[in-house]
Amino acid sequence: MKHNYGNSLCISTQVGCNMGCAFCESGRLKKRRNLKTCEMVLQILKVEEIINEKITHVVLMGIGEPFDNYDAVIDFINIINCGKGLDIGARHITVSTSGIIPKIEQFIEDGKQVNLAISLHAPNDTLRNELMPINKAYPLKDLIQVLKKYIAKTNRRVTFEYIMIKDKNDSLACAKELASLVQGMNCYINLIPYNETSHIQYKRSEKETILKFYDCLKKNHINVTIRKEFGTKVMAACGQLRAKIEEDV
Ligand code: SF4
Repeated sequence: MKHNYGNSLCISTQVGCNMGCAFCESGRLKKRRNLKTCEMVLQILKVEEIINEKITHVVLMGIGEPFDNYDAVIDFINIINCGKGLDIGARHITVSTSGIIPKIEQFIEDGKQVNLAISLHAPNDTLRNELMPINKAYPLKDLIQVLKKYIAKTNRRVTFEYIMIKDKNDSLACAKELASLVQGMNCYINLIPYNETSHIQYKRSEKETILKFYDCLKKNHINVTIRKEFGTKVMAACGQLRAKIEEDV
């Protein structure tokens, strides 16, 4: 992804994923295996070779749950952050999790200076249980509590990713509930228009609905952005890629 601030690359950490999020093509087929650290590094080196430019920003938001492959992911972060490695600044690296609380605790203890993002996608347990089964093990109250601990300990901001799914999590009631859930936290919310695929019935929220949702959060003094889209037309946007490859095999 080319930005005015540099080249950002989204890295996968597993082949498949066991988290089973209802909206996600990548997780539709279960985890086959964890990627090794070297395989994650190679994703960067290969793309740099192809585009003949440096990757300046890395997000661990591709296929897989990074904290379900914790040790290899931390080694990867150390290597790409190291001056003798790829020398990518810690502030330019973002690791995203669906909310495995014990691993977030470990991440706090490890004191990594990289950014932390949480795939939230719902403002209450009922809806989140439906969209993200992980929530049954680690409900929102506990997740928010550990994130407050993270913010207090690191003095860093947390990003919440929120996929906008039509008539599912995009009502104004959801926006208000979301605002009160994160009220007072050092965070921002990234609204992501849902990427539709042929296997999942969910539809993308209307543009106007997304804007109303955004306005509601703004009015409640929540930092919020709407994610710029990349790759939808070539089935390379979030959650679309793996299913296409599987179909072609
Ligand atoms: S959204 Fe992320 S954690 Fe959830 S199934 Fe997809 S790849 Fe796994």
